[in-house]
Amino acid sequence: EQKRLEFYKDKKAQTKDGVDIEVVGNMGNLNDIAPILEKGGEGVGLFRTEFLYMDRSELPTEEEQFEVYKKAAETMGDRPVVIRTLDVGGDKDLPYLDFPKEMNPFLGYRAIRICLERDDIFKPQLRALLRASAFGNLKIMFPMIATMDELLAAKAKVAEVKAELESEDKDYNKDLEIGMMIEIPAAVMTADQLAKEVDFFSIGTNDLIQYTVAVDRMNEKIAQMHNPYHPAVLRMVKKTIESAHQENIWVGMCGEAAGNELLLPFLLGAGLDEFSMSAVSILKIKELLSQWTISEAAQKAEKVLELKSVDEVKDYLKSIQK
Ligand code: PEP
Ligand code: MG
Repeated sequence: EQKRLEFYKDKKAQTKDGVDIEVVGNMGNLNDIAPILEKGGEGVGLFRTEFLYMDRSELPTEEEQFEVYKKAAETMGDRPVVIRTLDVGGDKDLPYLDFPKEMNPFLGYRAIRICLERDDIFKPQLRALLRASAFGNLKIMFPMIATMDELLAAKAKVAEVKAELESEDKDYNKDLEIGMMIEIPAAVMTADQLAKEVDFFSIGTNDLIQYTVAVDRMNEKIAQMHNPYHPAVLRMVKKTIESAHQENIWVGMCGEAAGNELLLPFLLGAGLDEFSMSAVSILKIKELLSQWTISEAAQKAEKVLELKSVDEVKDYLKSIQK
């Protein structure tokens, strides 16, 4: 199998009928770039920047972050690198920030909620990102957006930082794309409005499933309920894609489900433009994409959306598997 898959390494990800789809990798640190390129990844769809902040005793400086983002941009060249701003809280704690313990950390003070209150955290990261954008094809993505107000506030911070950099005569890419994760049901339900304010969406199924089905993604006892085949989750994915395309923006997926072989015809047929996954899944997904035409997949996706249970969905997806 490995031999067969190697064929797709240097091939563009394309459907059977020749439509380009982007297949990219998820990364947490610079060491993850080599495997993504080795497996034929066409860029990075999610750079989880949390690692820069973990296992240390203080916040990373603007300069430290700049070096890392610049290196990622340079290594990937023209290929896109979507950098997600800090997503801590939930299961990822930063001891040196000394936030109070919470009863429900996944519903608590985390990610963009922290960043919007803490310029000392958010601005150095945005400055580093914008400065690094002069060296490659970077894009910025905000995590855990639940409201329009948060999105607009985050965008206003970017504008503020751009103005600062201009007054300092520092370079950045003026066309830098700004996107957001769709990982909270509230964002799905208002995706038609949010889509008017961003250049792209990326669906984070890990959290989206957790919040949709009310299942803690870390709790092993109920782990079987944290799965992407729930009809509610599939409908959320579909709705997000429709809202994005209505506004002519692209939509990717960077949660685990993007590398799920069974789900591929559904995601392709529902209209997903970009699939971002861990490096090990890339070749297989490229191969599967090459076996489906858009119309064939779209027909199957429509059928999937009529099904009523996880088992029905799974059985159906298995029955159409190539
Ligand atoms: C997600 O929630 O699906 C996601 C990609 O982000 P993380 O797993 O880092 O929360
Ligand atoms: Mg998430």
